[in-house]
Amino acid sequence: MTAARTYLDYNASAPLRAEARAAMVAAMDTLGNPSSVHAEGRAARAIIEHAREEVAKLVNAHASEVVFTSGATEANNWVMAGSWDEICVSSIEHDSVLAPARASGARLSSLPVSTIGVVDVEAAKSILARASERSQRVLVSLMLANNETGVMQPAAEVAAEARRLGATMHIDAVQAPGRIRVDFAALGADAMVLSAHKLGGPRGAGALILRDGVTLPPLIRGGGQERRRRGGTENVTGIAGFGAAVAAVQHETDAVARMRRLHTMLEDGVLRLTPMATIIGRDAKRVANTSCIALPGNAAETLVIKLDLEGIAVSAGAACSSGKVGPSHVLEAMGLGADMARAVIRVSLGPQTSEGDIAAFLAAWEKVAKPAAIAA
Ligand code: PMP
Repeated sequence: MTAARTYLDYNASAPLRAEARAAMVAAMDTLGNPSSVHAEGRAARAIIEHAREEVAKLVNAHASEVVFTSGATEANNWVMAGSWDEICVSSIEHDSVLAPARASGARLSSLPVSTIGVVDVEAAKSILARASERSQRVLVSLMLANNETGVMQPAAEVAAEARRLGATMHIDAVQAPGRIRVDFAALGADAMVLSAHKLGGPRGAGALILRDGVTLPPLIRGGGQERRRRGGTENVTGIAGFGAAVAAVQHETDAVARMRRLHTMLEDGVLRLTPMATIIGRDAKRVANTSCIALPGNAAETLVIKLDLEGIAVSAGAACSSGKVGPSHVLEAMGLGADMARAVIRVSLGPQTSEGDIAAFLAAWEKVAKPAAIAA
């Protein structure tokens, strides 16, 4: 018999939704290349176009603005690989933004964050103004919600300034759908990325939303797919699952309120059991599912392993960039100091999380973290 597990790592990857699984199985049983003109090809094409409509609806974009990719990492790399003279990028972006930005050859500026993990809008505006005075092709990149802390970012305000100055605005919205409303048109961005597996779709599918009229040189060439924007036969199965997951998110009515209630229960419980713990970013506006918990004096990796042995799946910092050891760049950018940053675990909830899951986590936390905290 396998012991019951409690999965609280939705920010790394959410469980596949039943609707997504069903759509993927059905898509796998279809035949044909979506670019073929015969009936089989047209049926495969219809699956993709249906999913495109769903993704567009989720974020209030036009279907023509949705380009399917192999995930958010590819989509972020694509945007960073554009012909930019300068890239202004927040210091708390995901590695799939930071690494290609550094490799791009463009002049880089870092947008600073406050100690509660919010990008400083005034600093961002003046950095952007200087870049726009110096250079023609300026890209700004700011995420909507941080994957480690859940802290929401002032992307709309920065986008408005980018538009005023003639710069291009990119938003990594991976951690937002299903947690907060994402409105591409209202945000005023030129580009935005999504990832299917963060909202109950399959791993290895995502999208770049590219505002009509904005062009980017293709990252992947060969074949005229995705209206010549991204070559390669489309991942029909993955796209079908992505579309079905997105449709399911849109039909949920009370998931966010329920997550928020459980999230509060989790954090209140942690602070009651271990008063020396700190919830990072608690004073900022956060999405309803992410808790970044610091227990000074404890290595996060050790806590994660001990919790795993108790049947609880959480992560240390940004586990989605796995293999990474050492303190998180996000927490360091918030001025936390390497010792504190090394002691942080991330607990992230989803629409399937139950009160029982929170109770199981707190029982394990009491066993694992309380003695560790006392010893520290
Ligand atoms: N951006 C953010 C904010 C993320 O959390 C992640 C996933 N960890 C990515 C980008 C990369 O997404 P994908 O797994 O689809 O490549």
